[in-house]
Amino acid sequence: MAWCLNQHMLSSVIIAVSVLLCLLSNHSSIAEKLPRFEHHLKPQQQSLNFLVVGDWGRKGNYNQSLVAHQMGIVGKNLNIEFVVSTGDNFYDDGLKGVDDPAFYESFVDIYTAPSLQQIWYNVLGNHDYRGDVEAQLSPILRQKDNRWVCLRSFILDTDNVEFFFVDTTPFVEEYFTDPGKHTYDWKGVLPLESYRAELLKEVDSALVQSTAKWKIVVAHHPIKSAGPHGNTQELEEQLLPILKSNNVDAYINGHDHCLEHIIDKESGIHFFTSGGGSKTWGGDIKPWDPKELKLYHDGQGFVSMQISKTNASIVFYDVFGKVLHTWSMSKKLKEAA
Ligand SMILES: [Zn+2]
Repeated sequence: MAWCLNQHMLSSVIIAVSVLLCLLSNHSSIAEKLPRFEHHLKPQQQSLNFLVVGDWGRKGNYNQSLVAHQMGIVGKNLNIEFVVSTGDNFYDDGLKGVDDPAFYESFVDIYTAPSLQQIWYNVLGNHDYRGDVEAQLSPILRQKDNRWVCLRSFILDTDNVEFFFVDTTPFVEEYFTDPGKHTYDWKGVLPLESYRAELLKEVDSALVQSTAKWKIVVAHHPIKSAGPHGNTQELEEQLLPILKSNNVDAYINGHDHCLEHIIDKESGIHFFTSGGGSKTWGGDIKPWDPKELKLYHDGQGFVSMQISKTNASIVFYDVFGKVLHTWSMSKKLKEAA
């Protein structure tokens, strides 16, 4: 089943999504297939233009509002199709329920620029799992603001790129073995072993079947990062082999509150961290091979991507909208290499 999502069409699929979310409330249905969305380019648009932001929901504080302002400017210049959020959407402890005012205070009333009135494709972060997860997944939020699309894991098919959004929080052992004072809402992901195994199987199978020119995986936790959280060992062991065997072009994540670009020497996969949506950690960086680490910015900001059938242009911006780093990729060159 595929849905074509445009802003004006979103309301018509709310009912279908509601039904699907009911099905997904029991994770055994993951094995049936990941939910699939279709998003077609605006007429005359050659490249898919979008923004990526992560780790943002702090009611405008910690420069969240400034980042939002700059996103609005870049979003207008690029005539973006949508925004991708890499999770940790609401600090500190997710949403308390569908009526939590944080949804307005951290999302609706912050990202107000006209260019940002597009669909937001969201994954969940570990902080989101500390609240009522099903509230963030609820279609009621889409009735409050029809930009909001949040599922645990799903596929987004666009004309130039296929995206695979993966729910990584349930893979991190520490949240189960050493949660500290935090309480996590694991409803819908237990028993863990089968949740993880089925999800990995579905992602692998979807990637194997994909005929897209560009394949991008989006998740919250980094696989490779020089930031304070660093590599997520569980994902290095379980998800990375799937990315490698399916020639994924890029993995986009948040969690480390920075902007970062690593190119894995061995596989050529690009690891983009966009976790600078609000509070960041200055000066906290682990040693990393400079041949792989193309950018590490320990302040706020966001990323834009423009992807045509053959070329991708990635730009990192700081909190003032200043360009920190750009990278271009060519599909033809990559294939010939
Ligand atoms: Zn996080």
